[in-house]
Amino acid sequence: MSKITGNCLCKSVKYSCNEEPLMTAVCHCENCQRQTGTAFSIIVGVPIGSIVFESDSTLTEYVDHGESGRAVGRKFCNNCGSPIVSIVESSLGLELIKAGTLNDKSWLKPTMQFWCETAQPWVKIDDEVESHLRNPG
Ligand SMILES: [Zn+2]
Ligand SMILES: [Zn+2]
Repeated sequence: MSKITGNCLCKSVKYSCNEEPLMTAVCHCENCQRQTGTAFSIIVGVPIGSIVFESDSTLTEYVDHGESGRAVGRKFCNNCGSPIVSIVESSLGLELIKAGTLNDKSWLKPTMQFWCETAQPWVKIDDEVESHLRNPG
């Protein structure tokens, strides 16, 4: 049984993924702050194409362009607006699940944080987390 299953707030979008997560990270970029309406995204990276959505899921994609100019496809529920998953145009080959939509969050432990230069001033993440001022690498 996969540990990665989740749904949006209204349950119109349901997904699962049988791959092991390759990365768990926090992103403080301004676009994530706006899209999520809060301080940062918590994202779980899995291989592109490994997320299976239930066939009647009501997903809409909005494509933004980050500071780097790379396209970021942000998929959200078109009924309740919950952000579900993002794909960054880059060589990473990852789809990024918004971890707040997971059913089981007990195993989450971010090991990296991105865009610390735009982090909200009150936010302090564990010092052991690998930190990048902008995107890694
Ligand atoms: Zn929904
Ligand atoms: Zn971000």
